[in-house]
Amino acid sequence: MKVTLLGTGTSAGIPVLTCRCAVCQSEDFRDKRLRCAALVEWSDAVLAIDAGPDFRQQLLRAAPRTLDAVVFTHEHKDHVAGLDDIRPFNFLQGKKISVYATERVEAALRREYHYIFSGEDYPGIPEIELHLIDDKPFQVAGHLIIPIKAMHHKLPVLGFRIGNFAYITDANRIEEEEFQKLRDLDVLILNALRRTPHISHFSLDEAIALAQRIGARYTFFTHISHQMGLHAEVESQLSPGMGLAYDGLSFVWGEDGSLQINHRTKGWPPE
Ligand SMILES: [Zn+2]
Ligand SMILES: [Zn+2]
Repeated sequence: MKVTLLGTGTSAGIPVLTCRCAVCQSEDFRDKRLRCAALVEWSDAVLAIDAGPDFRQQLLRAAPRTLDAVVFTHEHKDHVAGLDDIRPFNFLQGKKISVYATERVEAALRREYHYIFSGEDYPGIPEIELHLIDDKPFQVAGHLIIPIKAMHHKLPVLGFRIGNFAYITDANRIEEEEFQKLRDLDVLILNALRRTPHISHFSLDEAIALAQRIGARYTFFTHISHQMGLHAEVESQLSPGMGLAYDGLSFVWGEDGSLQINHRTKGWPPE
């Protein structure tokens, strides 16, 4: 299994339009963050976690051979705005793309993509097969996905555990009963927006405390705002086993369960 972080920025991305701060002007490629999403590739299927406004650009970079499914964490625009970009995969594969969403996310998709659900088979619309999910484990092409319940201020959101990998974005609280699902992780990707508190996202300190409690071998923080500071500076202050995520960071698990972390040393073309 390979997991690639397609985007690690908060809703505005980095650089933020019009902003002239040091982070937004940084030449370090790790300070350039598209909106949050991840790609999970198995030998027989490819799953995207969220499909935000940068989805097309992200898939040009990651260049998966196929796309079989999309699972949504929640319905905010920075996580769902790219659903139209599945269309080339519809054409290529000649099949519908499976979309996994809670009832609440489905309602938002029906509003935002009314033409997908209109019943009129207009050529060129994304073709999806919708699967309703809740907090119970489900399978994507035979691979087990375990939802993790979290809160994004008042909005219930889902994180996901897949094998020894877990992905929790856009949250400021994880339900107590969910911690048992987060044992023995190799890699935890966890939301940390910035250093100062925020109403609907973990701050860096809150995320660090949570990461220590969960105790994954490696934790990388995501959904990062330009207010977090320069990647290199923040990263240098973190304990071993913790880091800031960045776009293109990827993880590969071998058949024997061994983990390899692929750190990029330069930008991720096409820039
Ligand atoms: Zn978000
Ligand atoms: Zn959100």
